Amino acid sequence: MKTMIANVDTGLLPEVQAFLDGSPLASFVGGENVESSDGSTFATYDPGSMNKLADVAELQAADVARAVDVADEAFRTGPWAKLPPNERSALLHRLADEVEKRLPIIAQIEALDAGKIEAQAQGDVQNFIATMRYYADLAQHVNRRTTLAVKGHEAWTVRHPWGPCGFIFPWNFPLLLVGWGISPALAAGNTVVIKPAEDTPLSTLYLARLAKEVGIPDGVINVVTGTGPGAGAALSSNPNIKRMSFTGSPEVGRLVAESCGRNLVPVKLELGGKGAAVVFEDVDIAQTAERLVGAITFHTGQVCCDATRWLVHKNIYDRFVSECVNRLKAVRIGYQLNDASQMGPVVSQKQRERVLGYLERGQSEGAECLLEGGAASVDGFSGHYVKPALLAGSLDNVAAREEIFGPVAYLAPFSSEDEAIELTNRTDYGLANSVWSSDLGRAARVAEALCAGNSWINAHNVFAQGVPYAGINKSGMGGGVLSVETLFDYYRSLSVVRPL
Ligand code: NAD
Repeated sequence: MKTMIANVDTGLLPEVQAFLDGSPLASFVGGENVESSDGSTFATYDPGSMNKLADVAELQAADVARAVDVADEAFRTGPWAKLPPNERSALLHRLADEVEKRLPIIAQIEALDAGKIEAQAQGDVQNFIATMRYYADLAQHVNRRTTLAVKGHEAWTVRHPWGPCGFIFPWNFPLLLVGWGISPALAAGNTVVIKPAEDTPLSTLYLARLAKEVGIPDGVINVVTGTGPGAGAALSSNPNIKRMSFTGSPEVGRLVAESCGRNLVPVKLELGGKGAAVVFEDVDIAQTAERLVGAITFHTGQVCCDATRWLVHKNIYDRFVSECVNRLKAVRIGYQLNDASQMGPVVSQKQRERVLGYLERGQSEGAECLLEGGAASVDGFSGHYVKPALLAGSLDNVAAREEIFGPVAYLAPFSSEDEAIELTNRTDYGLANSVWSSDLGRAARVAEALCAGNSWINAHNVFAQGVPYAGINKSGMGGGVLSVETLFDYYRSLSVVRPL
């Protein structure tokens, strides 16, 4: 189907149009479409054109409580938790295979809803598939029963799934993060209740319907759509959830952790970041500039682990800045389904105001403007577009301390390795940093001295299933995602002992 917006052939797929034509879209609980008990809905928009995509059910607290009951019932009485691991894994593989077959459809839904460049959305769907396959395979090889050599006792431990697990996700990587979150939980035999962000609920709803089609039993994957203070708070404060996982801002993470604490429900928090890139004087300046510009403009800078503070050795600072400015000026800002676009819109008007607000506040606190950002306009599209920006100066500036979540980097020079480490660690966050140097010994030394969950060398935003990804301090707690340990988080351990 050809849909023309402002003379751009968006190439909207007929399957995507058919999915959107189902509006108002219901939540999905117990294998069925579920409306809100009071009939309320909210709208989700295409941030690149401001067109309404669909109305979506806005579940109320009682609806969410019912969804948790359904997930609990499916766990206790349904087949899922009792299936042999290989049979459960076969079903998860079938889901991953079906997602792969429909990759262009799901990616286009994601691109429309989140404002992502379509090729980047395709990468997200591929990542979802890889994560689901990784945990489906891993769970088949977990030794769930371990004999303990304890004098005078016959003793062993056995691992069981917990029960219904709650998940709350943000809007920046909707489907990819669902994959990181629910794959280990499902592979271990738990059931899940997912609350997607209200800006981007569509790909998660599509996935839940697909799970039913491939034969995942009803009640195993449930999706409750709604607002944060409504459906989100109802889920995180539900005492029948056995584990909770939250990905989003530190502010909301704190509320979720408080609710879980009151109910003594274990909680995992994956929160924001203010990562640094430490650029030494021995780098290939053009190549490093290219990669960091790529990282800060990827998904319009709305990436938790982005390098948003660029610390550059004083001997190459001016040359590095000019390489970056030239590249950033050349970035093609445009509608996300237009193949020529390199950077799409931010997700909402609220997000655009946040980015513009930080630019203003940063400069009013004395930051030097190396590249003026601000609102961008794209011919024929009234979306939420912004230009990339570079600020520089004291790292005590608000724009250097707080998470902006847009295509804005803050630069500062350094003169020694120790100073670079000290500047990088001068933050409340602790998610991800990168070190850039052709001296790999120095790069490793500095990478190990950084206070965060993740350090990357000569690259930024590196993810691989099997490498733990976690935040510390204000960036998260509870163990992180993507590793073998994440799978173990979704088993409870029981010790059984008989004195001899
Ligand atoms: P947010 O905290 O505003 O919202 C996240 C989710 O929480 C949404 O689904 C929202 O509806 C829900 N929510 C809001 N209020 C709630 C409440 N009172 N109780 C329960 N749930 C509630 O975050 P956002 O703006 O959607 O996402 C951006 C943030 O996410 C950034 O800080 C970013 O760094 C972080 N993030 C972190 C990671 C990671 O892996 N560490 C990944 C992606 C995004």
